[in-house]
Amino acid sequence: MIEEKLKHIGDNTSIQTKTPVSGGDINQAYYIQTGKQAYFIKVNRQAESGFFQVEANGLERIRSTQTIAVPEVYYFDQSSGDQEMTLIMEWIQGEKTATTEQQLGEQLASMHAAGGSGQYGLDQSTYVGKLHQPNGWYTDWADYFRECRLQPQFDIAVQLNRMNQNRRMKLEKLMDNLDKYLPKQPQVSLLHGDLWGGNWIAGQAGKPYLIDPSILYGDHLFELSFTEVFGGFSNTFYSQYQNVFPLEDYYEEIKPIYQLFYLLVHLNMFGEVYGGSVDRILKRYTS
Ligand code: ADP
Repeated sequence: MIEEKLKHIGDNTSIQTKTPVSGGDINQAYYIQTGKQAYFIKVNRQAESGFFQVEANGLERIRSTQTIAVPEVYYFDQSSGDQEMTLIMEWIQGEKTATTEQQLGEQLASMHAAGGSGQYGLDQSTYVGKLHQPNGWYTDWADYFRECRLQPQFDIAVQLNRMNQNRRMKLEKLMDNLDKYLPKQPQVSLLHGDLWGGNWIAGQAGKPYLIDPSILYGDHLFELSFTEVFGGFSNTFYSQYQNVFPLEDYYEEIKPIYQLFYLLVHLNMFGEVYGGSVDRILKRYTS
């Protein structure tokens, strides 16, 4: 019961409004207004234990960089048992203003430039969409990318029968040659990890907020490359980003390899409609 959980965080008032919020593809989401305040609430009936703890931890790590805003998390269920799991957070309401994308670019770049752990990866596994994302600490970024990013998606694609012979050979070849392309020791940045246009929103006075992260420590170019897969980020965003953290000149050369990870995730989540994009990238690096 949502009321019980709200009591748990000190809100004993009654719920005045509960409205579904669309936009996410994983959980059911609601706007809830009580006598005290407004909340954004996510509910999941099938999630594994710890599912929302991972999201809360990601938001907290981003918050701790003091560079870019995230909604405050008030409550999350740790363990599902037979019950649905709930995440309760601050409701963010606002409209984009003329400076929102400028702030988003500068603040994301500041988060990336702030550094973080000395190594690549993360100390806990996470989720990318609904898929399990294994992690670990690595001293070599290319090794992390091969072992924790490409290989797990390769394995899922094999299980789902989405890896035909040609795709399989090319992806194996690219994984073997990854060191030729990716930097071994790029600057370590905290990354949101799932930054498409739907994972940032504008709050009061147009202030940008990151939502729904899948964090890791890694090459900032990995984050930037995903922003370009589905669009939704303006030229202002990119130019302001570069004022704070310039993109290395090899960005264009390796961008498709970073995008390949997200396209494999989409191939695995949504099917062959993403197969052509995967194959075009594999062809570029293996022929
Ligand atoms: P899912 O985990 O299901 O993908 P999201 O976290 O992406 O869900 O949230 C779904 C939608 O709800 C977002 O696209 C956004 O528009 C809105 N939203 C997310 N967090 C908040 C918030 N804290 N306040 C207001 N709206 C939010």
